[in-house]
Amino acid sequence: MLPIEQACFWLANLPPHPVHALAGTVRADVAIVGAGLTGLWTALFLKELDPAREVAVVEQGIAAWGASGRNAGMLAETVDHGHAAAIEHFGEAEAARLARLGEKNVAEMIAFLAERGVDCDFEPTGRMMVALTEAQVLEAQRAVETAARLGVHTYAFRDREAVQAEVHSPLYRGAVSVRGGGILDPAKLTDGLRREAERRGVTVYERSPVVAVRTHGSGASVETAGGRIDASRVVLATSAYTHRLLPRVARWFLPLWDYILVSEPLDERQWHAVGWRGRQGISDGRTFFNYYRPTRDGRVLWGTSEAVYYRGDRVGPECEHSEPHYAALRESWRRHFPQLADLRFEYAWGGAICSTTRLTPFFGHAHDGRVLYGLGFTGHGLGTTRIAGRILAHLALERRSDLLDLTLVRRKPFPLPPGPLRGFAVDRVTRDLRRVDEGGAPSVFLRLLDRLGIGFSS
Ligand SMILES: Cc1cc2nc3c(=O)[nH]c(=O)nc-3n(C[C@H](O)[C@H](O)[C@H](O)COP(=O)(O)OP(=O)(O)OC[C@H]3O[C@@H](n4cnc5c(N)ncnc54)[C@H](O)[C@@H]3O)c2cc1C
Repeated sequence: MLPIEQACFWLANLPPHPVHALAGTVRADVAIVGAGLTGLWTALFLKELDPAREVAVVEQGIAAWGASGRNAGMLAETVDHGHAAAIEHFGEAEAARLARLGEKNVAEMIAFLAERGVDCDFEPTGRMMVALTEAQVLEAQRAVETAARLGVHTYAFRDREAVQAEVHSPLYRGAVSVRGGGILDPAKLTDGLRREAERRGVTVYERSPVVAVRTHGSGASVETAGGRIDASRVVLATSAYTHRLLPRVARWFLPLWDYILVSEPLDERQWHAVGWRGRQGISDGRTFFNYYRPTRDGRVLWGTSEAVYYRGDRVGPECEHSEPHYAALRESWRRHFPQLADLRFEYAWGGAICSTTRLTPFFGHAHDGRVLYGLGFTGHGLGTTRIAGRILAHLALERRSDLLDLTLVRRKPFPLPPGPLRGFAVDRVTRDLRRVDEGGAPSVFLRLLDRLGIGFSS
């Protein structure tokens, strides 16, 4: 199996840049572990709040090596998994606030990228959630109504004829199309933020795995094999890897592995056979859904949220590929687009999603408040990590912000079971949810979790 830098379409096509590893002891006001979107947005907001602060970022791979460079690049404006989930978890008033916040965040992000010349092949295509069963058609109609109730008027229902005319899959029975957001190259985005952070004076150390975070004097330090940063505050922007540095945080999240294929480029005849002139990102209404989008050079990215939990919260290189998932992905492509059943897939890789029981991020601190963390974006971090970066920057500098009142900042999600029980619980929920995806009724167990407001998804 190929190493991730060659296996992942985005990383394999990212131009190389000079890499500096951490060596010796250095000093910073804020040290950030993780050069994914969360870490880099945090660095940028720290510099915006106080350009004089010394900010250093330490990354075990290169910037974008984690989920930020491996994802599908489908940018949505929702902070939660959807408006209905936001209402369930936070109530209607806060769900409306999150909806406005999400829209404003994406608009500001697009403006920032344009203004700073961060080229990440962004296309403002909107997106589409397709319904594959009659139950999902009703869900789609309800999603449009719920959005309107929260003051969001970018959602529209499309019937079977309309959606099949747009993208020619015989499986589609209807859809919600959403104006806003779009598709982009996530590795270029993350690497572009790295360059922008460096331009503003942030030091980025790459190929420098942090092995320990300790208190030090009145602050904290991060240690690698070859060096150390002594800082007043440390921010862990380490997503699904956070438990390796701060084991107790594992109670609030689950590392789940999603897998993706990217095809060979399609020719004109093949594109004609699938339609898809709008080039929007598409996902379907199941819990374990497919998500897909075209790439700039005319390929199809085809992913699945049929995620794997590796017992013991493992996130090592052994999780990075899964042949059974690649075979299932090829099979699901053929079901969706039988007219292109012989399409070949040239890239295949996995990435770690950080999931919580309420499907939204959480924030906290350790070591007497000297170490901060923010993680748990599930499969929706492309936009939300920017909000998280703003939150973490304000927390690190102890500045006031309206964002700090959000329930998702003030409260942790319902904890997950510890140790071996965790694996059993995941297996049980997965089995029951799969049955619902196949058209069955939710089990008593699922109904109970639902009542407690506990979700499970990548
Ligand atoms: C397959 C897949 C598809 C997805 N599709 C989408 C999508 O289409 N749209 C969307 O909105 N979201 C999507 N997501 C989710 C999105 O990618 C994430 O929510 C987001 O990238 C999280 O960013 P992050 O910076 O918090 O985490 P990461 O990008 O994972 O960054 C964490 C960084 O910390 C580094 N790190 C960890 N431990 C250490 C250590 N000890 N020392 C040094 N560095 C360390 C890692 O190497 C990594 O670079 C997807 C995710 C995956 C995996």
